[in-house]
Amino acid sequence: MTEQLYFENSSVRSFDATVARTLSDRLVLNATHFYPTGGGQPHDTGTIETVDGDRTWTVTAVEKKDEIYHSVSGPDHLPEPGTAVRGELDWPRRYAHMRYHTAQHLLSAHLLSAYDAETTGNQLYADHAHLDCAYDRFTETDLADIETALNGLVEDDREVRWYTMDRETAEAELDPERTRIALLPASITNLRIVEIAGENEEPLDRTACAGTHVSATGEIGEITVTGRKTQGSEHERINFELD
Ligand SMILES: [Zn+2]
Repeated sequence: MTEQLYFENSSVRSFDATVARTLSDRLVLNATHFYPTGGGQPHDTGTIETVDGDRTWTVTAVEKKDEIYHSVSGPDHLPEPGTAVRGELDWPRRYAHMRYHTAQHLLSAHLLSAYDAETTGNQLYADHAHLDCAYDRFTETDLADIETALNGLVEDDREVRWYTMDRETAEAELDPERTRIALLPASITNLRIVEIAGENEEPLDRTACAGTHVSATGEIGEITVTGRKTQGSEHERINFELD
């Protein structure tokens, strides 16, 4: 399996790797910082070039299956396995995803603590996002309150950290309502836990999540709740945007 370097360090913009395999217009590397589509977060884009700078391909999609596949466009002749390459992320796009993803964690945590509304889904983009939750209907006042609470958490500039934990320990020790481990396929035995610092020892949020996040909530910037929409009975969608 391709080594998923973005799990450890989400702030790397360019990296060196070796081509492991090629398939028509797709490249598999031994290791990558390109995030593949998943968990409501879109894939990264950017470029992969040979280290001599001779040939450059544009990364148009990244997909995780048995390996991580980088769909590329550019010179017809893809590099041979073993070729040293350099990957460069489209950083504004990735950083926006990190900010939106962290904002989504704040929103999920707040909805659960203030409205007992569990998150059921989320989708983020580089310029807007939405989150679905189990709730009857938010009023305009609720939405204004939510926005104020979230921006307070941004202003607090709380630390965000992540680490891996084996599933058994996580199931025994962590709050299942928040981590939602039960929703993950049984094949996942090692979990990545993302935590946002609380006011005391207890974190504000602790979720199993494989996405990329900023390292402090202050990096999110101002959050605007742009609206709500019913998704059926006891199911609401909240739309939000970042500055
Ligand atoms: Zn996340």
